[in-house]
Amino acid sequence: MSDELYFKPLTELAALLDTKKISSVELTRSVIARTKAVDARVRAFNSYDEADALAQADESDRRRAAGKARGPLDGIPVGFKDVIAVAGQPLTASSKMLANFVSPYDATVTQKLKHAGAVVWGRLNLDEFAMGSSTENSAFRATCNPWDLARVPGGSSGGSAASLAAGEAIATLGSDTGGSIRQPAALCGVVGLKPTYGLVSRYGLIAFASSLDQIGPFTRTVEDAAVMLGGIAGHDPLDSTSYETKIPDYRGELKKRKGPWRLGIPKEYFGEGLDPEVGAAVENAIAFYRERGCEIKEVSLPHTDYGVGVYYIIATAECSSNLARYDGIRYGHRSKEARDIIDLYFKSRAEGFGAEVKRRIILGTYVLSSGYYDAFYLRAQKVRTLIRQDFLNAYREVDAILTPTSPTPAFKQGEKSDPLAMYLCDVYTIGVNLAGLPGISVPCGFSSGGLPIGLQLIGQPFQEAELLAIAHAYEQGHDWGERHPKL
Ligand code: GLN
Repeated sequence: MSDELYFKPLTELAALLDTKKISSVELTRSVIARTKAVDARVRAFNSYDEADALAQADESDRRRAAGKARGPLDGIPVGFKDVIAVAGQPLTASSKMLANFVSPYDATVTQKLKHAGAVVWGRLNLDEFAMGSSTENSAFRATCNPWDLARVPGGSSGGSAASLAAGEAIATLGSDTGGSIRQPAALCGVVGLKPTYGLVSRYGLIAFASSLDQIGPFTRTVEDAAVMLGGIAGHDPLDSTSYETKIPDYRGELKKRKGPWRLGIPKEYFGEGLDPEVGAAVENAIAFYRERGCEIKEVSLPHTDYGVGVYYIIATAECSSNLARYDGIRYGHRSKEARDIIDLYFKSRAEGFGAEVKRRIILGTYVLSSGYYDAFYLRAQKVRTLIRQDFLNAYREVDAILTPTSPTPAFKQGEKSDPLAMYLCDVYTIGVNLAGLPGISVPCGFSSGGLPIGLQLIGQPFQEAELLAIAHAYEQGHDWGERHPKL
């Protein structure tokens, strides 16, 4: 078989496995060899366990030989953002705080993928505790964009996006609180899906901002995303915000839903700060849908301007509470210098957390403090409702909303030293999290400098089947995703 198995889509590999043209061991070896060849440059992995992956692949092959294959994920190597628990493996959140932590249990998504027969592959780098847009905030290493190693892969799930683009996994998982799946997917030229809040269990995901966090897949194609979503979605009694809803056959639905759709273009998303080449690529995508008979309508999301401000109040408030558990006592980094218990808390946290995490904890504690709570946190919650209402109003007229994913292609490492400049990377993605909606980024072109550009489609709550079909229609007419970076 081809020596480039690692660049093939999941569904194609599943067919090759099913017809016994390849084995999972062969596929897993190809991914491992590729990782060893390129990861010194891409720097996407925090850790991997080669022997464990090969043992899982071997089990998958035995199952298949016995006629007991479990479906399209059986035997497929999947990488995990290093905030998703895998029993017996390191779980670091790319923080010194958890540098030596080994997870005692599986996240629900891990359990589900294991039951589906997937090969649990390595753990992928991120901005510390998922706070950032470039993966430069990792305490361990900055991951590089495979299309230009001097540039960032986006973040916070930069390792998940970069490893997939570089052929170091067949699919990966990330988490998205304000854009952390869609933005790196756009910058690395792969598909990234953030599901509706509540569709995928958060049990076993290291919490950043619990009312915004959602796990989702990175894949080479929209069909692959449909398969992965089918593998991880569903109600979970271990996550109290998990929603009871029937999970459709997302992959099967792709073929049934053909449009034409009514697509909304929010005028607030095409203003200042949008790179002209990104704007042009998105305009071309709009023209494509129009030619296919879709109705294109301008819509308004009037509270868009408040999105970043509201997000940085709510997300920091929730993170200050979630990260209080890292006290140096129960688990995580413990300072060796402490004089007494209070000093131990202070020093362990001072030594264990990086600058961006500390900034967020301090901001979050401030907006929750008495006297400021009403002025900041409570007001932000009210504006959040208005932002959600904007989207729901728009959905009276359209089936989905189309926007750029990121205002610019990948920027240079070290280019954005001002936190505010970094926060603005998420202007187009944050509203989706605040409103709890599903959003997908699909490759829609390249800049003149050869950097990938992403198109964002935003769907209605729990209408992932429709959203995926709309994205699939675009992908069928283009071959952006078939290009690979030269490494
Ligand atoms: N970049 C945003 C932040 O820094 C979003 C991160 C995320 O989605 N986890 O908070």
